[in-house]
Amino acid sequence: MKLIFVSGGVISGLGKGITASSIGRLLESRGIRVSAIKVDPYLNVDAGTMNPYEHGEVYVLDDGGEVDLDLGNYERFMDLHLTRDHNITTGKVYRTVIENERRGEYLGKTVQIIPHVTDEIKRRITSVARDSGADVVIVELGGTVGDMESMPFLEAARQLGRDLGREENVMFVHTTLVPIMGSVGEEKTKPTQHSVKELMSIGIRPDIIVCRCSEPITDSARAKIAMFCDVPEEAVISTPDARTTYEVPLNLERQGVADLIIDRMRLRPMTSRRDMSSWEGLVDRIVDPVREVRIALVGKYTSLADSYLSHLEAFTHAGAARRCRIRTVFVDSDRLTSEDPAEVLSGVDGIIVPGGFGTRGVEGMLAAARYARENKVPFLGVCLGFQIATIEFCRDVLGLEKANSTEFDPRTPDPVVCIMDEQRGISEMGATMRLGAQDVVVAEGSKAHALYGSALISERHRHRYEVNPNYIDRIEAAGWRFTGRSDCGTRMEIGELEGHPYFVASQFHPEFKSRPQRPSPLHQGLVDAALKN
Ligand code: GLN
Repeated sequence: MKLIFVSGGVISGLGKGITASSIGRLLESRGIRVSAIKVDPYLNVDAGTMNPYEHGEVYVLDDGGEVDLDLGNYERFMDLHLTRDHNITTGKVYRTVIENERRGEYLGKTVQIIPHVTDEIKRRITSVARDSGADVVIVELGGTVGDMESMPFLEAARQLGRDLGREENVMFVHTTLVPIMGSVGEEKTKPTQHSVKELMSIGIRPDIIVCRCSEPITDSARAKIAMFCDVPEEAVISTPDARTTYEVPLNLERQGVADLIIDRMRLRPMTSRRDMSSWEGLVDRIVDPVREVRIALVGKYTSLADSYLSHLEAFTHAGAARRCRIRTVFVDSDRLTSEDPAEVLSGVDGIIVPGGFGTRGVEGMLAAARYARENKVPFLGVCLGFQIATIEFCRDVLGLEKANSTEFDPRTPDPVVCIMDEQRGISEMGATMRLGAQDVVVAEGSKAHALYGSALISERHRHRYEVNPNYIDRIEAAGWRFTGRSDCGTRMEIGELEGHPYFVASQFHPEFKSRPQRPSPLHQGLVDAALKN
């Protein structure tokens, strides 16, 4: 078993997740099988109950795991299908330890952070690594070295280095910040030195130091860091600001990161030549587009772009396929209730209404859907956006003025979107949703069928409410057709408006399975329609 731990120092938000993902991408391009684990030091058991404003979007896996958005980066960069066990949180670890204690499994011993919590962390990491069948598993340690919460995880990592053998089986990559100060633009290495010192005081000596800096770091800064932090100069890697995150693997490759890891861990690559040519082509199409479209994203978490990370990535993928830059215009849906939607949305080539929860902002989303429907502006609705499109259609086309979802108006006379029977009665938050990958049957001749190129697809879900079966015949007769269905046709999954260039919505989340080289078909459909607009 071989593990690469990726830690972070100085500040959070250094792009540790992208560094971890990029290393994985590089190893994979040499034919080495890679997997990845994210460790989150917070006490939440999973990310399902977290507000997107705080941590960015909740990413959903095939198995229904609601996880940290970094797992999305792993899946996109390394083209993996991960499971919920690949996100280890303090909450999960403590829950197990306390349950074990209640069952008397510690045989009367005092239960302590070391060894009981650290053993449970080690058990989880090694069992996931073993089950993954990968040659190397990258373990990203969330948080910043020095945080109280991360201590047990760092201690477990240190012990794993001892258990498995520091020589070839465990490596530590530490990411830090090298700020540039003053008018002369001097790089400051002191924060890096201090953070490495902190790591060493825990007993971990980094093998590679990745320095985030606005510019490539100079040779003298590199030499200084190498000297003070006791690593070879070639192990000091610089990650200057990139034009797209997909460029980071190429930067790391140029500095020999993959070779360094392969030599040190004695990995046996299937090919000594790096095959990054298709990735280079991808980056080229992203950074050097020949066209541009503007897509309005109408939602309620628009002040934090990370709340919609997977949508933005899906647009990057779909745009790259057409050498087209996607300019996302974030529109706070609340704005559309006080301002004229025609004014706010007039300059855009397409509109997306993504997922969301709760009543706030819903009327503005309805206004956006109506604007797109009436003005034949390309539109994609996802999850809540699908429900919004359905409600708007019922109100305006079927004349059911008070049509609503029971999520927003429990007493509506026309509950065209309502709660699923089997979810009724479950009240514990975080346990009530329909989650994960489910098969969807797509009608031949539909736009979705043309885009997916298949009549049977599998997409990920995260919702409680859905289209009320009692209204389906009426809705379809008026032109909002449900071209994707699941569970023997009982659940509505895709809607398409007749006589509109592109007005498509899905109950599932196509953004989670979008990959750089395989864009989400529904996002691709929106981009293509926007290009024609
Ligand atoms: N709030 C809606 C539901 O629970 C939509 C959820 C979502 O957009 N992810 O069904």
